[in-house]
Amino acid sequence: MTSTETGFVLAVHGGAGTVPRVDATASLTALHHTGLRRALIAGRDILAVGGRAIDAVTAAVVVLEDDPLFNAGRGSVFTATGTQEMDASVMDGSDHRAGAVAGILGPRNPVLAARAVMERSNQVFLIGEGALAFCREQGIAFAEPSYFYSEKRWRELQHELAGRRREMPIVTAEQGHGTVGAVARDRHGNLAAATSTGGMVGKTPGRVGDSPIIGAGIYADNGTCAVSATGHGEFFMRYGAAFEVAARMRYANQSLQLAARSVVDGLAAMGGSGGLVAVDRTRALAMPFNTAGMYRGYVQDGGAIHTAVYDEPYQAGPH
Ligand code: ASP
Repeated sequence: MTSTETGFVLAVHGGAGTVPRVDATASLTALHHTGLRRALIAGRDILAVGGRAIDAVTAAVVVLEDDPLFNAGRGSVFTATGTQEMDASVMDGSDHRAGAVAGILGPRNPVLAARAVMERSNQVFLIGEGALAFCREQGIAFAEPSYFYSEKRWRELQHELAGRRREMPIVTAEQGHGTVGAVARDRHGNLAAATSTGGMVGKTPGRVGDSPIIGAGIYADNGTCAVSATGHGEFFMRYGAAFEVAARMRYANQSLQLAARSVVDGLAAMGGSGGLVAVDRTRALAMPFNTAGMYRGYVQDGGAIHTAVYDEPYQAGPH
């Protein structure tokens, strides 16, 4: 039996840097919906048998990292010098454990590297070479650099660099974005979040965004909410965006909806484009964004899978 007490909810995003609506062919949009659905199915199948929120968000993000359409794992964008540097994080709201990695290229699924940091080290955040050495020690699966290469991402970098030469960079525009993430509330009332990204197109090597920063691009706390963000990371870090959603709930008694919307509006007022997905322990769900669109979707216990890209009604798929 499903009730507010026992039911689960899972939400995912594939970034707020959507393909502009005019360029989004029906077939490309369909592929985005399919990718989101596959991630939701992976997480839902864990939650539906009483599995843990932390396992569901990790599984959903693995699927999105494996999908070259999204800017994380396999589909990661390139830095200004043509390298790739991935950031990822996980957080378990039941005990506030968290794990994060930044600036890595090698692990096939950066979110699994973050998960290993959370579970198999007594630290929270590992970067660069040290993080890679830890992943090797832990037997995390690696992929060749060619696995992460795509013509499309390479062209995006060339376009960005050409724009900079003409002093018209696109990096602050929405196309420079992309990240994947998931949040869940399981049947036991536990909340969790996971976020993973290739960062922003043409970023300076060494730049770390908000995605692996606990409280900026991710947060989870059973008493309030689980949040995964996407957008112009510098603004999310300066705003403490993900923690701000939880703080509004805890200290100002705001609903999840109001807290999440206020944060996304606050970011917009500073010039920070993006959005977030969030759930709370009552199974409330919020997916606000201040961009033209955000790849996103959700599934609730016993319900259909819903996905959307722009500001439009959700497409409901079969159970
Ligand atoms: N937040 C990511 C970053 O700044 C990018 C994104 O979500 O679009 O690295």
